[in-house]
Amino acid sequence: MSIPVTGQTETSRLPVHLKISIVTRVLYALALLASGVLWILLLWRIIFDAQVLPWYSLLAAPAGILVADFCSGLVHWGSDTWGSESMPILGKRLLHPFRVHHVNPADFLDRSFLDTNGDIAFLGPLVLLPALQIPLESPLLVMATIFIAAFSIAGLMTNQIHQWAHMQHAPVLVRWLQRWGIVLSHTAHEKHHRPPYDRNYCITTGWCNRPLQAIQFYRGAEVLITSLTGAQPRTDDHDFAARLRIQGVHCEGRCEFGCRCWQ
Ligand SMILES: [Zn+2]
Ligand SMILES: [Zn+2]
Repeated sequence: MSIPVTGQTETSRLPVHLKISIVTRVLYALALLASGVLWILLLWRIIFDAQVLPWYSLLAAPAGILVADFCSGLVHWGSDTWGSESMPILGKRLLHPFRVHHVNPADFLDRSFLDTNGDIAFLGPLVLLPALQIPLESPLLVMATIFIAAFSIAGLMTNQIHQWAHMQHAPVLVRWLQRWGIVLSHTAHEKHHRPPYDRNYCITTGWCNRPLQAIQFYRGAEVLITSLTGAQPRTDDHDFAARLRIQGVHCEGRCEFGCRCWQ
């Protein structure tokens, strides 16, 4: 199956992310609004309704952000490594964008705020609505709620942070956060787009990238899954790039980060 590309020049013939309809845009806006309002309500409850708020309960915030970063890596690794972009729903909304992103990273910068953040916003209410029911009457429950609040805001912002990491000139505040390692930086994420393309999957803060690489976490998981199922890692990602080569599309020299289609 050939990959739809447009234009005649090498640059314009690279694949781009699928355009979203007006209806999808409205749904994304509603999901983002709902997630934003629910998150503010949760924060409000923690600040004004918690019956106890010991100092150590605040440690749950970095823990929540750390777990969100780990989850971003797990989802990204799973999307890059397994399955097919032709699968229904997940293939179109999750795997295909990553396939396009690897051969045409610059396309991500052309995606609007709604397009970048809309999909993940649908998950917000699923986490935040139950969290709003937690009674804040003991330090443990307050910590759990702070953990969920931090986890959810970091998780909701993952795609936005990933987009910022691709920018040469991100907003000043973002660059400050990147410099202090609070969110994923340009240089930290660049490693994911360079050979051998099998590391630095965490795209929220990037805090988990180094320890996961040190213990060969993804390599170990890939060996296990291959031994259990026979599936080979990154087959679909390589096929996507190979089909582009067959179609005569090359991206050498265009990408700010590395591109897989001339591998
Ligand atoms: Zn990737
Ligand atoms: Zn990227």
